Amino acid sequence: MTPLERALRERVLAEGPISIEAYMQACNAYYYATRDPLGPEGDFITAPEISQMFGELVGAALADCWWRAGSPSEMLYVELGPGRGTLAADALRAMGRAGLEPAVHFVETSPVLRREQSGKVAHATWHERLAGVPNAPLLVVANEFLDALPVRQFIGGMERRVDVVAGGLAFDRDGEIIEDSPARDAIVTELGKRLARDGGVAILIDYGHAASAPGETLQAVRGHKFAHVLERPGEQDLTAHVDFAAVAKAAEEAGALVTSLVTQGEWLERLGIAARADALARAQPERAEEVKTALRRLCDDREMGTLFKAIAIHAPDWPTPAGFE
Ligand code: SAH
Repeated sequence: MTPLERALRERVLAEGPISIEAYMQACNAYYYATRDPLGPEGDFITAPEISQMFGELVGAALADCWWRAGSPSEMLYVELGPGRGTLAADALRAMGRAGLEPAVHFVETSPVLRREQSGKVAHATWHERLAGVPNAPLLVVANEFLDALPVRQFIGGMERRVDVVAGGLAFDRDGEIIEDSPARDAIVTELGKRLARDGGVAILIDYGHAASAPGETLQAVRGHKFAHVLERPGEQDLTAHVDFAAVAKAAEEAGALVTSLVTQGEWLERLGIAARADALARAQPERAEEVKTALRRLCDDREMGTLFKAIAIHAPDWPTPAGFE
């Protein structure tokens, strides 16, 4: 039994069944606080860990948007859940080439990952929550961050809970599931309000769907394989598909503008990933095959190209970032 499972059982026995939302929150807080889950030896891999091209294109898109917004000074680069800091390092390098050198603010709860990030990006400031980031125009990036925030599940109008049955964790009900995520709505609302007030843009990339729909998407991944959600609590990654219609609604209601939703493959192609891949392969012919593989993994429909999607939120007086027109 994992230490968290013991704690969760005791909690259920003391308080009664806990919501899926509370369960996912507790599991992911423990999971991220105790490890670096990324990479071949970990549980999963993300786009910036596949290739530097991902972060470079994000950086180039942010720099271009900033330039077209009139290159305001005192910009902050804010990343939500920066993982190993790879995306930030690649994006900041690309922004630097375009003459943009924002102060760096990371919203990250994991002490293990904060340490990794400090090795990649010097001079960052860390925050537990977005609210800690100072008020200024923002360039925000979140890759595979929203999917880690807790969802609620409802069955026939009743919230689904985790109970202890015959000594083990079990769902208190089964049936047709509807999910939502107050935690995501809250952070997107906060982001939208800040962008509308202070200026700036946020690019959010995640796996998910364009329209709200019934169905269960909560899943567990351990060692690059799917697992049962109630197995080994705190020792596997719990995520749920992002409902991008809900994201767009929260941002609009907060007064920000929202772009159309684009598949990751289409978005990276519009940002010129093919040309960047050619340039990298020409500069380092011994890495040509690796670059080609990375390009396929990021953009191919059967890989991350279609399941992953990007959306941007921006201040009303900021332009639509490239790749979303
Ligand atoms: N963006 C990175 C990592 C994705 S994993 C990449 O693409 O590689 C999810 C990240 O979000 C981790 O850094 C994790 O520690 C962080 N995270 C998860 N829940 C969080 C929360 N509630 N607040 C802040 N950071 C969180």
